[in-house]
Amino acid sequence: MATKISLVQGDITDQHVDAIVNAANSSLLGGGGVDGAIHRRGGPEILEACRKLRASHYGWGLPVGKAVATPAGRLGVRWVIHTVGPLWSASEDRSAQLASCYSESLRVADELGAESVAFPAVSTGVYGWPMDDGARIALETVQAADTAVADVRFVLFDDTAYAAFDRLLQA
Ligand code: ADP
Repeated sequence: MATKISLVQGDITDQHVDAIVNAANSSLLGGGGVDGAIHRRGGPEILEACRKLRASHYGWGLPVGKAVATPAGRLGVRWVIHTVGPLWSASEDRSAQLASCYSESLRVADELGAESVAFPAVSTGVYGWPMDDGARIALETVQAADTAVADVRFVLFDDTAYAAFDRLLQA
Protein backbone atom coordinates (compact mmCIF):
# COMPACT_ATOMS: atom_id res chain seq x y z
CA MET A 1 0.00 0.00 0.00
CA ALA A 2 1.30 3.44 -0.86
CA THR A 3 2.27 5.68 2.01
CA LYS A 4 0.62 9.10 2.02
CA ILE A 5 3.10 11.86 2.77
CA SER A 6 1.92 15.21 4.09
CA LEU A 7 3.48 18.37 5.48
CA VAL A 8 2.38 20.37 8.50
CA GLN A 9 3.87 23.52 9.88
CA GLY A 10 3.86 23.44 13.65
CA ASP A 11 4.97 21.66 16.78
CA ILE A 12 5.39 17.90 16.67
CA THR A 13 4.01 17.53 20.21
CA ASP A 14 0.62 18.79 18.94
CA GLN A 15 0.21 15.95 16.44
CA HIS A 16 -2.43 13.26 16.79
CA VAL A 17 -0.76 10.23 15.27
CA ASP A 18 0.20 6.77 16.49
CA ALA A 19 3.88 7.65 16.88
CA ILE A 20 6.02 10.75 16.82
CA VAL A 21 9.72 10.59 16.06
CA ASN A 22 12.19 12.34 18.33
CA ALA A 23 15.46 13.79 17.02
CA ALA A 24 17.21 12.51 20.14
CA ASN A 25 20.86 12.45 21.01
CA SER A 26 22.78 9.29 21.60
CA SER A 27 22.56 9.51 25.40
CA LEU A 28 18.74 9.23 25.24
CA LEU A 29 18.72 11.49 28.28
CA GLY A 30 17.13 14.49 26.64
CA GLY A 31 18.38 17.67 25.03
CA GLY A 32 17.11 20.82 23.36
CA GLY A 33 14.96 21.35 20.28
CA VAL A 34 12.40 18.64 19.51
CA ASP A 35 13.86 16.42 22.22
CA GLY A 36 13.32 19.05 24.90
CA ALA A 37 9.77 19.75 23.70
CA ILE A 38 8.84 16.05 23.73
CA HIS A 39 10.20 15.41 27.23
CA ARG A 40 8.69 18.63 28.63
CA ARG A 41 5.25 17.89 27.32
CA GLY A 42 5.36 14.10 27.67
CA GLY A 43 6.53 14.13 31.27
CA PRO A 44 8.82 11.81 33.22
CA GLU A 45 7.53 8.48 31.88
CA ILE A 46 9.48 8.95 28.64
CA LEU A 47 12.77 9.71 30.37
CA GLU A 48 12.24 6.79 32.70
CA ALA A 49 11.76 4.45 29.71
CA CYS A 50 14.87 5.94 28.05
CA ARG A 51 16.91 5.34 31.21
CA LYS A 52 15.81 1.70 31.24
CA LEU A 53 16.76 1.28 27.58
CA ARG A 54 20.18 2.74 28.34
CA ALA A 55 20.66 0.36 31.22
CA SER A 56 19.50 -2.71 29.27
CA HIS A 57 20.79 -2.07 25.73
CA TYR A 58 22.45 1.25 25.09
CA GLY A 59 25.01 1.86 27.79
CA TRP A 60 27.31 3.23 25.06
CA GLY A 61 24.47 5.28 23.62
CA LEU A 62 21.98 4.68 20.83
CA PRO A 63 24.07 4.56 17.63
CA VAL A 64 23.59 7.24 14.99
CA GLY A 65 20.98 6.17 12.42
CA LYS A 66 19.24 3.72 14.78
CA ALA A 67 15.77 4.07 16.30
CA VAL A 68 14.04 2.77 19.40
CA ALA A 69 10.53 3.25 20.80
CA THR A 70 9.24 4.20 24.24
CA PRO A 71 5.78 4.98 25.60
CA ALA A 72 4.72 8.59 25.11
CA GLY A 73 3.73 9.64 28.64
CA ARG A 74 1.27 12.52 28.55
CA LEU A 75 1.62 13.19 24.82
CA GLY A 76 -1.55 12.36 22.94
CA VAL A 77 0.15 9.58 20.96
CA ARG A 78 0.97 5.94 21.66
CA TRP A 79 4.71 5.89 21.12
CA VAL A 80 7.77 8.06 20.78
CA ILE A 81 10.36 6.65 18.39
CA HIS A 82 13.77 8.05 19.29
CA THR A 83 16.35 8.29 16.53
CA VAL A 84 19.81 9.81 16.56
CA GLY A 85 20.69 11.93 13.56
CA PRO A 86 24.25 12.54 12.39
CA LEU A 87 25.98 15.84 13.00
CA TRP A 88 26.43 17.70 9.72
CA SER A 89 29.95 17.43 8.37
CA ALA A 90 31.36 19.39 5.44
CA SER A 91 34.20 16.90 4.99
CA GLU A 92 32.37 13.59 5.33
CA ASP A 93 29.19 12.43 3.60
CA ARG A 94 26.85 11.23 6.35
CA SER A 95 23.73 11.11 4.17
CA ALA A 96 23.32 7.35 4.58
CA GLN A 97 23.18 7.79 8.35
CA LEU A 98 20.50 10.46 8.04
CA ALA A 99 18.50 8.28 5.62
CA SER A 100 18.82 5.43 8.10
CA CYS A 101 17.09 7.54 10.79
CA TYR A 102 13.97 7.62 8.61
CA SER A 103 14.07 4.01 7.42
CA GLU A 104 14.87 2.62 10.89
CA SER A 105 12.10 4.73 12.46
CA LEU A 106 9.62 3.32 9.94
CA ARG A 107 10.89 -0.20 10.61
CA VAL A 108 10.26 0.31 14.34
CA ALA A 109 6.84 1.80 13.52
CA ASP A 110 6.01 -1.33 11.52
CA GLU A 111 7.07 -3.54 14.43
CA LEU A 112 4.74 -1.56 16.71
CA GLY A 113 1.88 -1.61 14.23
CA ALA A 114 1.80 2.19 14.03
CA GLU A 115 -0.19 3.40 11.03
CA SER A 116 0.54 7.10 11.29
CA VAL A 117 3.92 8.62 12.10
CA ALA A 118 5.06 12.24 12.46
CA PHE A 119 8.69 13.14 11.79
CA PRO A 120 10.63 16.31 12.51
CA ALA A 121 13.40 17.37 10.12
CA VAL A 122 16.07 15.27 11.83
CA SER A 123 19.56 16.82 12.19
CA THR A 124 18.51 20.20 10.76
CA GLY A 125 18.59 22.03 14.11
CA VAL A 126 21.46 21.88 16.56
CA TYR A 127 23.14 19.20 14.40
CA GLY A 128 23.49 21.73 11.60
CA TRP A 129 22.32 19.83 8.51
CA PRO A 130 21.41 22.20 5.63
CA MET A 131 17.61 22.26 5.41
CA ASP A 132 17.25 21.63 1.66
CA ASP A 133 19.49 18.59 1.78
CA GLY A 134 17.89 17.29 4.98
CA ALA A 135 14.48 17.64 3.35
CA ARG A 136 15.60 15.82 0.20
CA ILE A 137 16.99 12.88 2.18
CA ALA A 138 13.87 12.72 4.36
CA LEU A 139 11.44 12.70 1.44
CA GLU A 140 13.46 10.35 -0.80
CA THR A 141 13.92 7.85 2.01
CA VAL A 142 10.27 7.79 3.03
CA GLN A 143 9.12 7.60 -0.61
CA ALA A 144 11.39 4.61 -1.17
CA ALA A 145 10.56 2.83 2.09
CA ASP A 146 8.87 -0.54 2.14
CA THR A 147 6.53 0.10 5.06
CA ALA A 148 2.98 -0.59 6.21
CA VAL A 149 2.76 2.92 7.70
CA ALA A 150 -0.11 4.55 5.79
CA ASP A 151 0.36 8.15 6.86
CA VAL A 152 3.69 9.93 7.23
CA ARG A 153 3.57 13.52 8.30
CA PHE A 154 6.56 15.84 8.35
CA VAL A 155 6.10 18.47 11.02
CA LEU A 156 8.15 21.52 10.16
CA PHE A 157 8.76 24.09 12.82
CA ASP A 158 9.26 27.22 10.73
CA ASP A 159 8.56 28.76 7.31
CA THR A 160 11.97 27.90 5.89
CA ALA A 161 11.67 24.24 6.78
CA TYR A 162 8.12 24.02 5.47
CA ALA A 163 9.08 25.75 2.21
CA ALA A 164 12.04 23.42 1.66
CA PHE A 165 9.91 20.30 2.06
CA ASP A 166 7.02 21.76 0.07
CA ARG A 167 9.23 22.67 -2.90
CA LEU A 168 10.60 19.14 -3.11
CA LEU A 169 7.28 17.40 -2.58
CA GLN A 170 5.66 19.45 -5.37
CA ALA A 171 8.53 18.77 -7.76
P1 ADP B 1 18.93 17.89 15.75
O1 ADP B 1 19.82 17.84 16.97
O2 ADP B 1 18.68 16.52 15.16
O3 ADP B 1 19.36 18.90 14.76
P2 ADP B 1 16.82 19.68 16.74
O4 ADP B 1 15.74 19.33 17.69
O5 ADP B 1 17.84 20.67 17.17
O6 ADP B 1 17.50 18.27 16.34
O7 ADP B 1 16.19 20.18 15.38
C1 ADP B 1 15.60 19.37 14.40
C2 ADP B 1 14.53 20.19 13.67
O8 ADP B 1 13.36 20.25 14.46
C3 ADP B 1 14.91 21.64 13.41
O9 ADP B 1 14.50 21.96 12.07
C4 ADP B 1 14.10 22.43 14.44
O10 ADP B 1 13.76 23.72 13.97
C5 ADP B 1 12.88 21.58 14.55
N1 ADP B 1 12.10 21.69 15.81
C6 ADP B 1 12.46 22.19 17.01
N2 ADP B 1 11.46 22.06 17.91
C7 ADP B 1 10.43 21.44 17.25
C8 ADP B 1 9.11 21.02 17.61
N3 ADP B 1 8.63 21.22 18.84
N4 ADP B 1 8.34 20.42 16.65
C9 ADP B 1 8.81 20.21 15.41
N5 ADP B 1 10.04 20.58 15.00
C10 ADP B 1 10.84 21.19 15.91
